[in-house]
Amino acid sequence: MRVVDVVVVGGGPAGAACAITCAKHGQNTVLLEKGMPGRHKVCGGIMPTVCIGILKDDLGLKMPDEVMCTPHTLGLFYVPPSGRRSGAAMRNYRLLNVNRDRLDHWLLQIAEDSGVNVLYGTEFLDFQNEGTFRVRAGNKDRVTEVQARFLIGADGVFSKVRTQLHRGSKAQTMMIVQEYWQAKGEFEEHFYTFLKGEVTSAYGYLIPKDGRYLIGVGEARGGHGRAAACLRRFTEWLTDEFAFEPVSLERKEAGAIPYNSLFGGDGNAILVGDAAGFCNPFSGEGIRLGIESGIMAGEAIVQANESGKTLSSLYHQQIEGLSEFIRSTYEFSVALTDKEREEFVSTELQRGSLAPYYSGPQKD
Ligand SMILES: Cc1cc2nc3c(=O)[nH]c(=O)nc-3n(C[C@H](O)[C@H](O)[C@H](O)COP(=O)(O)OP(=O)(O)OC[C@H]3O[C@@H](n4cnc5c(N)ncnc54)[C@H](O)[C@@H]3O)c2cc1C
Repeated sequence: MRVVDVVVVGGGPAGAACAITCAKHGQNTVLLEKGMPGRHKVCGGIMPTVCIGILKDDLGLKMPDEVMCTPHTLGLFYVPPSGRRSGAAMRNYRLLNVNRDRLDHWLLQIAEDSGVNVLYGTEFLDFQNEGTFRVRAGNKDRVTEVQARFLIGADGVFSKVRTQLHRGSKAQTMMIVQEYWQAKGEFEEHFYTFLKGEVTSAYGYLIPKDGRYLIGVGEARGGHGRAAACLRRFTEWLTDEFAFEPVSLERKEAGAIPYNSLFGGDGNAILVGDAAGFCNPFSGEGIRLGIESGIMAGEAIVQANESGKTLSSLYHQQIEGLSEFIRSTYEFSVALTDKEREEFVSTELQRGSLAPYYSGPQKD
């Protein structure tokens, strides 16, 4: 059986960021990814520009042009319940418009270049904790075993590592459905966020992407059928407000984000990204929080090695601010009335800054 320092389960942004951080600090690291290189992830691919600084400062990386969609950056345009006439773009604010599959592929290539052993097509099955972790993973008909001192669950919203670590606990999710359209409409280079209770209890969005429009809605109450009905109402609203005229549907897909459920891990096994519940319940933003929690997990491993303390106790300190942000954003967004949505947009547009968005760990 192979013996390493760290096993990371999952090769999304959280797992890749964690593995790169571990490798940079000399940890012998294996990453298990059930998909093949370039696997598809259902996502809008919108990231705050602060990610450029996080990747540069914490991982020494520069995001290459090939991970970007056209246009590379977008403004942020809020549409409140009363519609377009009361909406506007935030002043001096830009977002990155990325191709998620290419972003994740690039990060995993960096991980491999940093010395991480990335095992594609390899699905985590279970682990035994015998002081160190004995992790079993399946690749086609073969079962591989890896032994490690530290185990990182970065396996997304339906994490199997979390299920085994926190037996009996239930993780809530929010359903998101999205469609790629060739379409016409009165849109500029913005990420459009729509808030209206009659359409959805959460949010709708439109993103110009490589000559198409990606439209989607999140809906916290109910499953796929209810979210699909929200998307139909949203499309009608888009038609009324922005003269949205669909030409041809290119792709239709659904996914989930964690919602109001936080799990840090236990002992020397911890969770990062969606597996831990680190996704903004108000906006659906999770890529950056995945990268940040992945880096924090890697840093906690370094501290655990130096201090001999339990990994989860060190990691819980690191993620305190992030967890508090998720909790307070949930509290803020869960019972919004349309009047409050209207006030929120108006205040944001006047203030010119983003209130319910995570501003990063408070460094001394
Ligand atoms: C429709 C939709 C739109 C979204 N839009 C945005 C957006 O515009 N901006 C944004 O910031 N966030 C967005 N999000 C949220 C964002 O996609 C997630 O928060 C982010 O992907 C979390 O990263 P992660 O690395 O934790 O998990 P993931 O990206 O889900 O990665 C988990 C990885 O683990 C692998 N895996 C799973 N199980 C196993 C197993 N048993 N063994 C081995 N490997 C396994 C998976 O194949 C996957 O590669 C959106 C989500 C959805 C559903």
